[in-house]
Amino acid sequence: MRFDTENNLQKWRPCLGLLLCVLLITVFFPFAQRSAAAQTDREMVIEKCERVQVILEDKGAQAMIERLASHACLSFARFRKIFGVDPGKIRIRVLGNMERWRDIAHRAWYIVSVIRDHEVLTQPSSSLLRLEHPERPVVHEIAHMFIRQVAGHGCPRWLDEGLAQWLSGDRQSIERMPERNEIWMLEKRLNAPDDTRRKRRKDYRLSLALVQRLIDKLGVEVLVSSLAAIAQARDPLSTMVRGRKLFNLMAESVDVPSQK
Ligand SMILES: [Zn+2]
Repeated sequence: MRFDTENNLQKWRPCLGLLLCVLLITVFFPFAQRSAAAQTDREMVIEKCERVQVILEDKGAQAMIERLASHACLSFARFRKIFGVDPGKIRIRVLGNMERWRDIAHRAWYIVSVIRDHEVLTQPSSSLLRLEHPERPVVHEIAHMFIRQVAGHGCPRWLDEGLAQWLSGDRQSIERMPERNEIWMLEKRLNAPDDTRRKRRKDYRLSLALVQRLIDKLGVEVLVSSLAAIAQARDPLSTMVRGRKLFNLMAESVDVPSQK
């Protein structure tokens, strides 16, 4: 009988493959299990209402995060009334450290919160504690979720950002009403990926001032009910709202007292 190496190898190949799989599972599975467990051990879940769940990765500032969760619940209920829609349960994840912020949120250090895969991510509680209003970045992102629900993704950025700021409690009066092309440039800058902190701040303030002017004229409910039409318009600034063009509503002097 001739010893056939190739045939022998063919015969044993499935067994060798199986052996290798068993070896890999035995070596790596306990590691995978341990790291998942470690992450869960560190996390704390806070639910102050049925629609908002806060996941706290580091338990450093639990009292502040509890207050933040309550604020988020109140804002959710308020937005549901203003927008007349319900985006469903919202999950807010307070990341454990800045490395996680960099790796998961992929945002600069001066941006505090962001929406990723239907979840609101925020910088760690140690960063939130430095803010005068730690809850505002989270409320701002919840506002974006409601805006998206009624307007889809077509809402102009200046309107989206201005309204999210106003709804989270920020206020800014206008210094000088910009021309139409300046609003167009503002929109272009807000959509550009490279952005410095100073420029971004200035553009966000202007966006808020423009939205505040519209709200002074129309009231927040009318503005919100016009979002879908504005988002679908080829020229959003020419959208007719209450018989006036959107730009004209902002450009005319305000004769209605500001909403608080
Ligand atoms: Zn925003």
